[in-house]
Amino acid sequence: MTSPARKPTAAIIGAGPAGLSAALGLHQKGWDVRLYERYPEVKAAGNILNLWPAPQKALRALGVDTENLGAPAYTQLRRYDGRVRAEFRMPEAVAREYNGGFIGLIRWGLYKRMLDALPEGVLKLSHKFVGLSDRGDSVRVEFDEGEPVEVDLVIGADGIDSSVRKAIWGDSPKRYHGLHLMGGWFLGDEPIGTRGVFAHDRTVQGSYTPIRHEGRDGYEWWVLEKWTSKEPFTETDIRKYALERVSHFDEPLPTFIRKTPPENTHRWEIVDREPIKQWAKGRVTIIGDAAHPTSPYAAYGAGMSIEDGYFIAKELADVDGSDTAVLINALQRFEDMRKPHTGPVSQGAYITGKIFHHAPAPLRPLRDFMFDHTPFLQKNQGDAVPAQTIAQLDLIEDAPSPHVSAG
Ligand SMILES: Cc1cc2nc3c(=O)[nH]c(=O)nc-3n(C[C@H](O)[C@H](O)[C@H](O)COP(=O)(O)OP(=O)(O)OC[C@H]3O[C@@H](n4cnc5c(N)ncnc54)[C@H](O)[C@@H]3O)c2cc1C
Repeated sequence: MTSPARKPTAAIIGAGPAGLSAALGLHQKGWDVRLYERYPEVKAAGNILNLWPAPQKALRALGVDTENLGAPAYTQLRRYDGRVRAEFRMPEAVAREYNGGFIGLIRWGLYKRMLDALPEGVLKLSHKFVGLSDRGDSVRVEFDEGEPVEVDLVIGADGIDSSVRKAIWGDSPKRYHGLHLMGGWFLGDEPIGTRGVFAHDRTVQGSYTPIRHEGRDGYEWWVLEKWTSKEPFTETDIRKYALERVSHFDEPLPTFIRKTPPENTHRWEIVDREPIKQWAKGRVTIIGDAAHPTSPYAAYGAGMSIEDGYFIAKELADVDGSDTAVLINALQRFEDMRKPHTGPVSQGAYITGKIFHHAPAPLRPLRDFMFDHTPFLQKNQGDAVPAQTIAQLDLIEDAPSPHVSAG
């Protein structure tokens, strides 16, 4: 039973996609919520991004404007020379409803839209979480500066190196995938197409999708390959390095890389952590990358983080924050429904990276023969990957959206 005396209170740690989404969701459900970010501003971690339909639907339900958030990207899996191997297929109705289904955008564009929807006073910048103590009937949260707070619930949305996760579950090793990714983007004034391409040769992936950002269109691209060296990456010109890796790939990828301003390029080593058995402990839980960090091979880590925020708020909608048993049950229901989704996505992305980049050299021709001449990739990627996100759509409520006309 909800106490009429006061609203339940929550401290969310980390203003990335997971934290922003949970803050929007809990506020919508009547919680008194604060979102604590360590930096003096909300910073997009990286640049390039794609979103599947389910996170787009969750954003809408959370009151975020998704109109023209990204460019439609009808994406094919291809061989490096352009031969089509498979296609990410969406049901027509889903593609129509969600801007093609799979959209390309700049990460900051997403953050900006989410921040615009966040009520004033929720976001607390320059608050680095440093510790907590769960006292049974409330949690005390401490920051590196400023006063501690006392709340009913703490949600750790503080990313792959989550301090909240460490505080409740201790440390666990990162899993290095033996891969690195270089990516970049550019916007232009010329009309763009709707084709996205994920292409591979025997060891390298070279991909691109259309993007839309604040009314302008362009492309993002990325080049991904095995990277096992323990040595630091010393190449200063990421664009040049990426271009050398894919100079034999079908156009327009090499041209896109040449067109990219150097300041729009980044490099990442790919890491995650093995799925953790339990997320919540007492009145504290973790969501997003803090709970299930996911390789970019899924293009779904941010998407699942957004979904997490939506679903945790849904479970906590009518919860009395002072009732410990009820709160703990709601947190458990949330993770029990999310783990069967997030676990296979994260694990699948890890394995896909292994298949494309770590297959032993003698097996690669056989693997590529199978990719080129059997329905393997269509079944296991082209159909299976969109199906994972489409399965979430029915679980997310429709939001009244301005582009749906009453008549
Ligand atoms: C190269 C690359 C490409 C990707 N492409 C895609 C894609 O196309 N589609 C997709 O869906 N996903 C993609 N991802 C995955 C996606 O970036 C992550 O899954 C997503 O950012 C996770 O969101 P999050 O909110 O859980 O964590 P984060 O985005 O890491 O945000 C965590 C926040 O917590 C803050 N924080 C950390 N510690 C503290 C502290 N102690 N106190 C207070 N605040 C703290 C951080 O400053 C940050 O703001 C990609 C990832 C990479 C590396």
